[in-house]
Amino acid sequence: MEEISFSLTPSDGARGDEERREVEDLVIIGGGPAGFTAALYAARALLSPLVLVGQAAGGQAATTDVMENYPGFPEGVGGLALAQSMQDQAERFGARMVFDQVTAVDFSTRPFRLTTWGGEVRAQTVIVATGALPRKLGVPGEEKFIGRGVSFCATCDGFFYKDRDVVVVGGGDSAVEEGIFLTRFARTLKVVHRRDQLRAIKLNQERAFANPKMRFVWDTVVEEVLGEDRVTGVRVRNVKTGQEDVIAAHGVFVYIGLLPNSKLFEGQLELDEGGYIVADRRQHTNIPGVFAAGDVQDPLYRQVVIAAGTGAAAAIEAERFLSER
Ligand code: NAP
Repeated sequence: MEEISFSLTPSDGARGDEERREVEDLVIIGGGPAGFTAALYAARALLSPLVLVGQAAGGQAATTDVMENYPGFPEGVGGLALAQSMQDQAERFGARMVFDQVTAVDFSTRPFRLTTWGGEVRAQTVIVATGALPRKLGVPGEEKFIGRGVSFCATCDGFFYKDRDVVVVGGGDSAVEEGIFLTRFARTLKVVHRRDQLRAIKLNQERAFANPKMRFVWDTVVEEVLGEDRVTGVRVRNVKTGQEDVIAAHGVFVYIGLLPNSKLFEGQLELDEGGYIVADRRQHTNIPGVFAAGDVQDPLYRQVVIAAGTGAAAAIEAERFLSER
């Protein structure tokens, strides 16, 4: 059973590599909804932004099956399709997309210096839109079985669990929504949650409780992911009674929250105690000319529509910063 993880690919219009400049006006780090929306606004301000997308575009949004709360789509919209449209729209106005990974930044010098797999990029302004990454359980077996039964993306890997037994860990909107998605494939599905109440919004709770395939294992934490070549189950412990148990499963989908993807900026940008970049209401960081947008600076909402909104604001502010100089 080979598992895949998918992402957007450079569109026909992607032309960033041929057109890198000695000093860029604006470099956007990250190719999710925040980065693509920043790119759209900056491109329409004729800044011709360079977007360093990383290895995979679309961010967390691209791993979502259907989004029901992105405005303008009464029937919902696929996360991957939405991300692709955002990318296409930004490219249409001249944003240059490069599938290149930033490995280091130096914001202490001007122009700013970014080291990437493809070389060095210098920039007058930077928008950081690196998003968030799935939080891991940190238990034995988790790392070992990633791609062999442990997954953080139901949309990517759900298909491989047709008629299989699946465990979902977590009690938030992601665990519930992705769990419901997985019931299309799975033979049995158990949601293991550390409390006896879900954190997910009420609508999702109602849907989950009404889903005949979804079972809940309350007050329980995963202590170990078990298996030989592939996952065979999880060892769990009830936090109230202390009782240990084994749940047999072919797949374990972990949805226990997100962590900001901000390690690259430690020591240069101000981060809060959770690792989120501190940005003000106009998306300015502590370094003039460096702006932050999307989930990497949002400990509160982490919604695609809000990520897109802060991306637009960051681009407007970057344009103002450049014109004031
Ligand atoms: P989340 O809301 O932070 O929920 C994380 C869940 O995992 C919580 O139930 C939490 O338990 C549990 N958890 C955290 N650490 C754990 C650990 N070490 N071991 C076991 N369980 C652990 O994360 P999320 O569901 O990924 O959602 C992230 C954000 O995106 C949220 O703001 C969410 O509303 C948003 N989102 C929105 C939608 C939507 O609008 N349709 C869809 C998906 C996500 P406790 O409840 O006990 O804290």
